[in-house]
Formats: sequence, structure tokens, C-alpha cells
Amino acid sequence: MATEKVEGAAGELKTRMVITAHPDDSEFTVAGTVARWVKEGWQVIYVICTDGSRGSNDPDMPPERIGPIRHAEQREAARILGVDTVIFLDHEDGSLEPTMELRRELARLIRRYRPDIVICSDPSRYFNRNVYVNHPDHRAAGEAALYAVFPSAVTRFIFPELLDEGLEPYKVREIYITGSLEPDTWVDITDTIDLKITALQAHRSQVDPAAVDSRMREWNGEMGRKYGVAYAEEFRRMILR
Ligand SMILES: [Zn+2]
Repeated sequence: MATEKVEGAAGELKTRMVITAHPDDSEFTVAGTVARWVKEGWQVIYVICTDGSRGSNDPDMPPERIGPIRHAEQREAARILGVDTVIFLDHEDGSLEPTMELRRELARLIRRYRPDIVICSDPSRYFNRNVYVNHPDHRAAGEAALYAVFPSAVTRFIFPELLDEGLEPYKVREIYITGSLEPDTWVDITDTIDLKITALQAHRSQVDPAAVDSRMREWNGEMGRKYGVAYAEEFRRMILR
């Protein structure tokens, strides 16, 4: 039975972190939730693992041109949502791997910013229905993020060089997983669906504004109907013990 758990969750920590592969991933999957959290007073931090530089098939949009455009689009989307910190790790788009280097980078950021919740994608998801292959970068970012939360961020002598940087072990309280086939938590985004769509439309190199409007209303509306609200986003929620 899905329950709405965001309200009242605020403890002493005021930061939440979204880790994705590409510019625009978080707008498609969690922007309604992010906008809601920002309104509730949370600081939300975006971490984008790749540089978005393979985001166009246009021969006139080679990586060195499209990459900076996508950085700017992501910053604009974040501004619309009220996300004040956007961190690009700038790994090469299209060939992201869940390496120890990536895991260390993410563990470093988790220890530095100490989010109570980390959002990432489901690394076990190869297919999206029978029409899309899930981008391998999404799986790689999801896997690296999960293992950065546990065991890397919380275990003292994994990546001991982080201790030398003054970064003590840190335990994330919850993980919200996007794109899961087993969602068990939902967030009512009825009040923030418009912001979500506006933020998504900031990714001008990636989306058709009108198409993305109707697609999101259909997609998040379908989720909302399951729970008796107009629009929702769904997650698999892990509460770490
Ligand atoms: Zn993506």
C-alpha cells in the first residue's frame, strides 16, 4: 500500500540529493517532487554524472557544441525548480560506467552535503515497457549512486582518502528509486506539475514543448489516478537500517 511520506519527514537535516546520468533525467522523473520539497524548505542538490555531450544526432551539434548547451539548460531547469546547487561530474555522455572513481566522487558529495534522502534510478531496469531500451548510463549512475550510499559513504575505511579531506562517514536515511517496476511510495505533485513541465521545457535541445506537456500530464496523471490525486510521481523507497 503506497503512502505519502514526504510531509513531516523533516528532521535536523535539510538537504536532499538527486543523482542522475544526464541533464533532463531529473526533470522527467522527479521534478514535481523536487519542486515540492523546495517549497517545503529543503535544499535540493542535483548531481549530473555525464556532460550531456552526446545529446544530439544533428551533424551540426557535435559534442563540444551540445555539451555546453545542455549544461545551461540544466541550470535553467534547476533555477525554475528552486534547486540552487547543480554539480556536473562531466563524465563522457554515452559511456558511463559504475566505476570506483564514480562511486568515490558520489561518496565524497554525499559525505560533504549529508542529504537525508538520495534519489537515483533503478540499476536493474534494462527495459522500459516493450518500446525503450533503458539507457545504460541510467543504470550505471543508479548503481554507482546506490553503492556510494552504501557501503562507501557510511564505511570509515572505504576510500580513506575522503577522511584526509575531512569527510567523515555519513549514513543516508532513505533512497528513493526512480523508474522501478516495484514502486511503493508516491508523492502528490498536483501543485507542482506546472513547474515540472516548465523546467522540462527548459531542455530546449531535447524536448518539444507541447509534446512534453501532454506527455507528462498523461504519464504523471496515470500515476496520480492510482492514488486518487491529479498528478503523482512514484518511487521505490528504501529506508536504510
Ligand atoms: Zn537520460
